[in-house]
Amino acid sequence: MKPPVCALCGRRFPSSEGRLVKFSNYQPLPERMMGHPVGAVWFCERHVGVAERLSGRTSTAALAAMNLRHPFGALLRLLRSGRPPN
Ligand SMILES: [Zn+2]
Repeated sequence: MKPPVCALCGRRFPSSEGRLVKFSNYQPLPERMMGHPVGAVWFCERHVGVAERLSGRTSTAALAAMNLRHPFGALLRLLRSGRPPN
């Protein structure tokens, strides 16, 4: 399982302050398999509401829609990652 980092704003948060949202493409991991399940995405408490409203879509479609509504999200993630744009 990935650590809790908001997929929209890139903020790291204690898991009590956000939630793992399961989208329509969610696929649980097979038993005893390590890793992060497809379609399960962490969101901080500020963004979990909008993410849950879009949980009927695939995680890719939902994130694309959220990035359109929150155009600064991509910039924030970039600034927090400390990596130059590619
Ligand atoms: Zn967030």
